[in-house]
Parts: sequence; C-alpha cells; structure tokens
Amino acid sequence: MSISENLQLLPRTPLAHTPTPIERLNNLSGALGGGALYVKRDDCTGLAMGGNKARQLEYYFGEALQQHADTILITGAVQSNFVRMAAAAAAKLGLDCHIQLEERVGDTGADYRQSGNVLLDRLLGATLHTYPQGEDEDGADANLKRIADQLRAAGRQPYIIPLAPGHPPLGALGYVRAASELLGQLENLEDEISHIFVASGSGSTHAGLLFGLRSHNWLKPMIGVCVRRDRTSQQQRIKQRCEEIAALLKLENPVRPEDIEITDETFQPGYGKLNEQTLEAINLCAQREGLLLDPVYTGKSMAACLNHVRTSRKDQSTLFVHTGGTPGLFGYGKELNLAD
Ligand SMILES: *Cc1c(COP(=O)(O)O)cnc(C)c1O
Repeated sequence: MSISENLQLLPRTPLAHTPTPIERLNNLSGALGGGALYVKRDDCTGLAMGGNKARQLEYYFGEALQQHADTILITGAVQSNFVRMAAAAAAKLGLDCHIQLEERVGDTGADYRQSGNVLLDRLLGATLHTYPQGEDEDGADANLKRIADQLRAAGRQPYIIPLAPGHPPLGALGYVRAASELLGQLENLEDEISHIFVASGSGSTHAGLLFGLRSHNWLKPMIGVCVRRDRTSQQQRIKQRCEEIAALLKLENPVRPEDIEITDETFQPGYGKLNEQTLEAINLCAQREGLLLDPVYTGKSMAACLNHVRTSRKDQSTLFVHTGGTPGLFGYGKELNLAD
C-alpha cells in the first residue's frame, strides 16, 4: 500500500484552506549575502487566523466525530495557537470546547493574559480553565481527564486532544499529507530548494513533514528549530514521533537518525521568551517583506533560518515553513517594544 492510501484509512475532517501558497521573499533573497528565501504560507490556513494546527486538527476532529463526541478538550500555553484553532474548529462543527491554559511563560503583562489568542478563545465561545504549571505535561493531562470525567458525569461525550508524548500523534498526519502538496509545488518553483526550515515544538509538524518527504524520496536537509526544549531532548522526541507515525500508518519508518537535523541556536532564554535575534527577524520580515512572524515560534525559527541563508551559497535556495501564530503578536506588545 502507498502512503496516501494508508492515510485515507484514518478519519479526517477538512478544516484547512489548502494548498497554501509558496512565496519568494524578493527583498530578502540575495540581499542577505546568500541564496534565495521562499516561504510556505501555512499561516494562511484559515480557521480563525490560520497556522499549522489547522492541518493537525483535521485528524483529531475526524476521530472525535467518528466517536460522536459533543465536547472537545485541549490544553496549552496561555497564548496557545492550538487551543484557539481547536475552539474555532469546534464552533464550526457544532461542538463545545473546553480549554485548559497552562502557566508556561511566568511573569507576563495584561496583554499576554487577555489579548491575542486568549481574546479569540473567549470570542469563539470556549470554556476556559487554568492549570498552575507549564512544565508538567502528565499533570496537565491528568487534570484534563478530571474535567472530562466531570463532563461525562453530566451526560456529555468528551473527546480529549492529547498532546503529551505516548499518544498516537494524529496531528502529525496532517503534515505527512502536506508533504505531497509541498512536493508538487516545489516542482514548479523557479529555483530548486536545497534546505527546509521549520519550527519544532511538539514535533508533529517537523516529524510529519519529514516522514512525508522521506517517504516520497525527497532526501535534502530539513532542519527543525527548537522552540520548546533543547536539541538533545527534541532529537529524541522527533525520532519517537516518526516511529509512532509509522505505527499509525502501518508503514516502515523512512526517517533515519541522521535525517533528524535540529538546531537550538535561537531558543534561549526558553519557551515563549524573546531574544535579540528573534526580535530582529520579526522586524526584518515585517519591514522588508510585509510578512508577520510571531514571538514564540516563527520569529525564532525564522531567526535560525536567516542565519543559514546568510551563509548559504548563492545558488542554493531555502524554504521556510511559516507555521502561523500571528495572534500571539498582540500578547507581546511590550516585549516587542511597541507598547507605551
Ligand atoms: C504549535 C506551533 C508550532 C509548533 O508546531 P508543532 O507541530 O507543535 O511542533 C509552530 N508554530 C506555531 C505558530 C505554532 O502554533
């Protein structure tokens, strides 16, 4: 069986606007000293302001609907894009949504807690819960299960979107699927892409895309940029994710250990916390290309991508996968030096 046939065996609900375009950043291409820079616009997937989670949610909601769920539960950071888009998908499909927001970033201002994704969570009609810690994936999951038990006792049919390791990474399938869309587009590009850069958080996007590309025998480097944890632990996580994807799809894992390339050069001082390089990348892309990046994911991954492009050969072209996150900007006005 082929990879696309096996993908079709798993339930999926269409949610994302696809195919997303690929654009050449004409002002930055060449001007950085190296080769051309292209962007795959997965910030344009629709579903209440876009991002990579639209493709991932297609598989979670596919399973939720198959199980006749009437309520979706999900956990994430206060400015999580995943929970915002889950709330949008739930609204669109006529389900209730319960969101648990974890304290991951520490000392933050009113905008971080009220604006950006949080404002949208409320607007989209989700019920918000809070969890006092941000580095306790098992604890957060256990608490979510307690909320699900309460809902079940009240006669509801809850479906949990589990994001901690150890659960089948259904969301990654969205990016296994996206790999064929991407490869079709790369054939028609004026330049040949030599490197792909993408943010690596839970790893669903990185592992899914890498798995899909390698299954189609695209063998060039794909570099995951750490946004959540350091390189050593992320390497392990991506390896495990790829094995889990293979098990889900009942296929052999085409990803070899040396395919998993990871950098954490722009990660410090940690999840959701800005640094100089990230600030520079956000400003550069906004002011030279009219392209919005976010402080948590795409600012950091673009910063590492720019480091690469600056030293790349003139005849090499790099593709940046823009994973979204735009609403997060509004939670970070102070850190971006744009608030009073
Ligand atoms: C969640 C998220 C990521 C990370 O994607 P994973 O699949 O969790 O690795 C990157 N960028 C944005 C904007 C996100 O919301």
